[in-house]
Amino acid sequence: MGCDVRINRVLVANRGEIAVRIVRTLRDLGRESVAIYADVDQESLHRSMADFSVRLSGQGVAQTYLNIEQIVAIAQSSGADAVHPGYGFLAESVAFCRAVEEAGLVFIGPSAVAMQCLGDKIAARKLMIEHQVAVVPGGVKPLENVAELAACIEDIGLPVILKASGGGGGRGMRVVRRLEDMALSFEQCQREALQCFGNDAIFCERYIESPRHIEFQVLCDVYGNGVHLFERDCSIQRRHQKLFEEAPSVYLSSQQRNTLGAEAVRAVLAAGYCGLGTVEFICESPDQAYFMEVNTRIQVEHPVTECITGIDLVAEQIRVAEGKALAWKQDEIRLHGWSMEARINAEDPAQQFLPTPGRVQRWSVPLGPHVRLDSHVYEGYTIPDAYDSMIAKLIVWGNTREEAIARLKRALAELKVEGIPTTALFHSALLNCPKFVAGDFDTSYMQAEWEWAATAARLAPHADEIAEISLVGMLGEMG
Ligand code: ADP
Ligand code: ADP
Ligand code: MG
Repeated sequence: MGCDVRINRVLVANRGEIAVRIVRTLRDLGRESVAIYADVDQESLHRSMADFSVRLSGQGVAQTYLNIEQIVAIAQSSGADAVHPGYGFLAESVAFCRAVEEAGLVFIGPSAVAMQCLGDKIAARKLMIEHQVAVVPGGVKPLENVAELAACIEDIGLPVILKASGGGGGRGMRVVRRLEDMALSFEQCQREALQCFGNDAIFCERYIESPRHIEFQVLCDVYGNGVHLFERDCSIQRRHQKLFEEAPSVYLSSQQRNTLGAEAVRAVLAAGYCGLGTVEFICESPDQAYFMEVNTRIQVEHPVTECITGIDLVAEQIRVAEGKALAWKQDEIRLHGWSMEARINAEDPAQQFLPTPGRVQRWSVPLGPHVRLDSHVYEGYTIPDAYDSMIAKLIVWGNTREEAIARLKRALAELKVEGIPTTALFHSALLNCPKFVAGDFDTSYMQAEWEWAATAARLAPHADEIAEISLVGMLGEMG
């Protein structure tokens, strides 16, 4: 992280909606952008929107968007003075962060040291315990064998969740409910950790049934100042992956918000953190929140925080990367209204959310007051099957939660996508669900309430009808 520098040109080391979103802020700030693109992304919007674009040679993700050497070389030869990693890909790679720093460029994110100490889940747990931040009961060192897992279970009881220390994106986790499943789960989890994250360190913590996922957005400068920008509720998940987010959360009172927010800031400052980050908590009750992990990068769901605070988080990332002090103190940051984000994935809710890459034949997007769509898709664009299935994020703001729900319903109805099924259908149905509307949900919501949605969707001939009529009707019968 640089100090007192002016960043003029930024290489965006990413693709898809987040690359487009970063390029937009760079242009707002009068800074130049350099896009990189793999051959499959030749027609991608991030390429055409940036001031400059450079082709990545090689095939597959490892040779392109994960190729540290190639990306740093492009950053240097293109005259960029900084690199923005986005999320996913190399965003949490300590090696990438180091390589960027060693090339004399600014990494728009935390220092490699802070990333290392928070990015690894076991290291982060240890640090939190040292600083009296409550963590989920469980282990603080990698499990070497099944006997160690058995000892841990003896200690904390069943069920437990096994996690990859280097894991992310909801992958590499296994819930163990019975002792007889312990050995197999251990092996599977360890193997998956090595395969997906190149690190076989796994640990175990108590599995909390039906918790709420509440996370705080934090921002720190190089002078040791830190603030939080309130929370996001990301409890609507499928297979531990977020599908829908909102800010603030109905779950917290303003006092609980202040307490937990201060805890989040304390947690990252303990690691000497600088930049934008997210502290995730898993909540058994509003007063019983456990630290879960820190994401040392911009998060997919950051726009809901932007909507309730009026702050452009990418612009703030650049400010702190330039060595500027935070522009406000905690009590100067205001929470205004309510915001929601629906992740529009190229997935078919009627087929167990099976990915549906393909050509987008129609793409007609919602507009109007307080509606935002972050996406790299356009009519005629072909969604490649090589990447994440998220193709857009539909974000709305309202004065109240009710207003936000009404607006998101309206925006979803305006969104017309043809050629591929998307999760828009799921979101329309969600917003009509009485329990959701009442704010009565947790991370098991999808499992408990939505298994039937697949059947319902398969029965209905048209997406709009499913969303507006059939699912609502069915919910009455089945809910
Ligand atoms: P979270 O990681 O808490 O789910 P996000 O939804 O912001 O938060 O994650 C963004 C995306 O980045 C994920 O959907 C996933 O595709 C990717 N991702 C996150 N962490 C990792 C990781 N360690 N390795 C690979 N991909 C990751
Ligand atoms: P990732 O790095 O993949 O985002 P997290 O540790 O943040 O992994 O967990 C992702 C999700 O998995 C959480 O949002 C939650 O739904 C579930 N989860 C994680 N740990 C626990 C736990 N101890 N008890 C219950 N659910 C958990
Ligand atoms: Mg997480």
